[in-house]
Amino acid sequence: MSRPKLATLWLDGCSGCHMSILDMDHRLLELAEHADIVYSPIVDTKEFPEDVDITLVEGAISTDEDVAKIKLVRSRTKILVSLGDCAATGNIPSMRNSFSTDEVLERTFVENTTTNSQVPDEGLPKLLDTVIPLHHLVKVDLTIPGCPPPADVIWEFVTTLLKGKTPELTIKTRFGK
Ligand code: SF4
Repeated sequence: MSRPKLATLWLDGCSGCHMSILDMDHRLLELAEHADIVYSPIVDTKEFPEDVDITLVEGAISTDEDVAKIKLVRSRTKILVSLGDCAATGNIPSMRNSFSTDEVLERTFVENTTTNSQVPDEGLPKLLDTVIPLHHLVKVDLTIPGCPPPADVIWEFVTTLLKGKTPELTIKTRFGK
């Protein structure tokens, strides 16, 4: 029987959710014994593969590139999981939603800089008018709340899924041991 394929994706998030994945420490090796980690910032794969069993997604959707990525990943994933509050609700990235994209770019590249103050006219993905959580654009099967979710919670969640069961986010799993 082929091993399950596991992936993680990093959209508009601070990387804290992936830091929690790394915080699983030696358990990452145990995870690698039970599943193939086929795509992630922590492995060197350029193309998101076909037929992925589980994908954990960190971050909200903020740009046209994010839209293209999450649609592709959704089409190639059986179980799509929102990992953390940015993916689930928009959280920190959505704080810009009170402002226009022009105001955000001006604030970032002009007002808050001391040298070379100008909005780049190339090399940046196009910002969406508003930041949205994953489920506003694609079907999300499960969510792991938290900012970031603790490593113990991610571990329990993923290992339960790999056993073919549906994880339950009890108080214990949501807030750690
Ligand atoms: S949920 Fe928190 S830790 Fe995760 S990407 Fe968002 S801000 Fe960072």
